[in-house]
Amino acid sequence: MQRRSFIKKSGYTSLALSILPGITLSQDPEYSLDELMGKKDIELFGKDINLKKAAHDAFVEMKKAAYSDGIDLKIVSSYRSFYRQDAIWERKYIQNTEKSGMSKLAAIEKIIEYSTIPGTSRHHWGTDVDIIDGYRTITGSVLDPDKFETGGPFELFKQWMDENANTYDFYLVYTNNPRRKGFKYEPWHYSYAPISKPMLKEFRRKNIFKQIMQEDIIGKENFTAGFLKGYIQNNILDINPELL
Ligand SMILES: [Zn+2]
Repeated sequence: MQRRSFIKKSGYTSLALSILPGITLSQDPEYSLDELMGKKDIELFGKDINLKKAAHDAFVEMKKAAYSDGIDLKIVSSYRSFYRQDAIWERKYIQNTEKSGMSKLAAIEKIIEYSTIPGTSRHHWGTDVDIIDGYRTITGSVLDPDKFETGGPFELFKQWMDENANTYDFYLVYTNNPRRKGFKYEPWHYSYAPISKPMLKEFRRKNIFKQIMQEDIIGKENFTAGFLKGYIQNNILDINPELL
């Protein structure tokens, strides 16, 4: 199946790119390794939204409803390619090792508090978004968990999302469950379950890490078998159970 869609895609790629960048030509419901890793040009919808069709439509509906309650669901980040994630990874790795003087392992552990190894981000899937309330004026970082707490600028946003997001099939991924391991609590990161659940399933079925070790990722020599096992268990799979 993969080979068939590859042939189909490569045959039309140049034409497709000249008409509509990011067009998807295959209707194949199977997710390829490239797509799961953010290396495929997938069709994305909505200016400043950039999600797969069904996720986009659900987001627009949710945004309308939030508007009527005085909240502006503003996307800070949605689709991100492998290459974009690789650039983030490299910048943080160099920052931590060269400027902050951490050991390579410590540098990686620090990065994976909030950021992923390139090829393993849920933002590669066109289903996940980082959102805030665009009506609030913010000083400093907008993706700061404290700002979503009581008395913070995104308190109402959080309340609204707690009550309504699931109605639109969006679920918080990295919850504040104290027993959860992996990425830290991200009150801004939501996932459109009807697509991201089957994508995660496919992700688990494929040997993504074999491919990742073949990519040109800075610091990858530190990805030992034990490290990767922990990363999969904690960072990939220890998420909101609604998304498994
Ligand atoms: Zn995110």
